[in-house]
Amino acid sequence: MKYYGAVEAGGTKFVCSILADPDHYFEEVRFPTTTPQETLERTVAFFREQQKTYALEAIGVSCFGPVDLNQESPTYGYITTTPKPNWQYTEVAGVLQRELNLPIGFDTDVNGAALAEYTWGNSKKASSLVYYTVGTGVGAGVIINGMPVHGLVHPEAGHILIRQDYEIDPYPGHCPYHSNCLEGLCCGPAIQDRLGIPAQNLPQDHPFWKVLANYLAQACVAQVCQISPEKIVLGGGVMEQLQLFPMIRAEVVRLLNGYIQHPMILNNIDEYITPPVLGNRAGACGAMALAKLKLEAR
Ligand SMILES: [Zn+2]
Repeated sequence: MKYYGAVEAGGTKFVCSILADPDHYFEEVRFPTTTPQETLERTVAFFREQQKTYALEAIGVSCFGPVDLNQESPTYGYITTTPKPNWQYTEVAGVLQRELNLPIGFDTDVNGAALAEYTWGNSKKASSLVYYTVGTGVGAGVIINGMPVHGLVHPEAGHILIRQDYEIDPYPGHCPYHSNCLEGLCCGPAIQDRLGIPAQNLPQDHPFWKVLANYLAQACVAQVCQISPEKIVLGGGVMEQLQLFPMIRAEVVRLLNGYIQHPMILNNIDEYITPPVLGNRAGACGAMALAKLKLEAR
């Protein structure tokens, strides 16, 4: 059995674990994201301890961002312009590489989650996949030809602009940069701010879900038209409201209006736009997928 280290580097907590595959999950530690120095020291200490038991092949880090993914850049493997205090321009991948002397796979948390769903989810014959996470923020990981898309920086499809009907939803939006972008309209804090109660306490038949489904369908349509992914996965805390799925699928079909003539859209959209299959293992599996990808790239 081959063992991999996984770091889910989140803005509020870090989760470090040891895995061999999605069904073989060993040690785990969780701690709050405090200062960069303290947080990275705890990460290094965990893996140093585990290395006494497990011969790790590599470690994957799925990281909150924005991050620098350009391997030619002097700040590759850094968290860059994050609004999180003290974490601007923090080196992550390089610190772990030097301290632990292991290959370090590094990418955004959403690219990690997308790669995990692509690798172990229900997208067997696909070569492309988009993974949207809708929770405290909205982000998207994009896989094309089996690789996470980086490009100029990395996709920020949580911030695409949305057509809003102000008569139905006059909410000005929650994004500090764009007000009513996708995240500004759909993230958990935007729902709470708009309705006064958290999304998870909103009744399943509340009319707002239809409004939200329309926005998320617009995002899916943008991906269908631009990336033409073979699979769209919608995850994150807000998407635990499973009643959204049939609403979003129907709205995607309505908005595309017959323009994309493909059986996945026209007949099998239930298999095309789906919840993640990895559930609460998605984060660790995402980081493990990045570790494995790093080894394959060497
Ligand atoms: Zn935005």
